[in-house]
Amino acid sequence: MKKYWRCFVCNDIHYGVKPPEQCPTCMVLNAYVEISPDEAKKVTNPSGEKFDREKFLRAIEEFAKKNEFQVNPDQEKVQMLLEGLFNNEQNHGLKYCPCRLITKDPDEDLKLVCPCHFLVHETYQNKEDGECWCGLFVKRR
Ligand code: SF4
Ligand SMILES: [Zn+2]
Repeated sequence: MKKYWRCFVCNDIHYGVKPPEQCPTCMVLNAYVEISPDEAKKVTNPSGEKFDREKFLRAIEEFAKKNEFQVNPDQEKVQMLLEGLFNNEQNHGLKYCPCRLITKDPDEDLKLVCPCHFLVHETYQNKEDGECWCGLFVKRR
């Protein structure tokens, strides 16, 4: 089962069955200790500061730039989806996909945090102008 691990030197968080032997951030050996999901959330966001919509949008645009997809050019749609994502963050703690239901199984639900691994979705694979389930990302033309 996957768990959260924290490097006791640099606070790097790892999520996996086992922690890395060497911390990829500070290079210290055998530095990981198991922590709770709640602690992991706090450590990754110590100030409790949240990405606002603008910042999130810039981050996913930057992410899309290096890939074969782009953020949907339909800005109205994007704003609606961001609304859903940020409501989920407020109500459920993470930016869960606005068009799918969370299961309360933490492992499964992590797959629903946006951006998800949408390249495998039928809606992305089987259409020329493919998109993620919600249409936040679309194939670049
Ligand atoms: S389907 Fe689209 S909107 Fe939903 S989590 Fe995946 S990338 Fe985000
Ligand atoms: Zn470290």
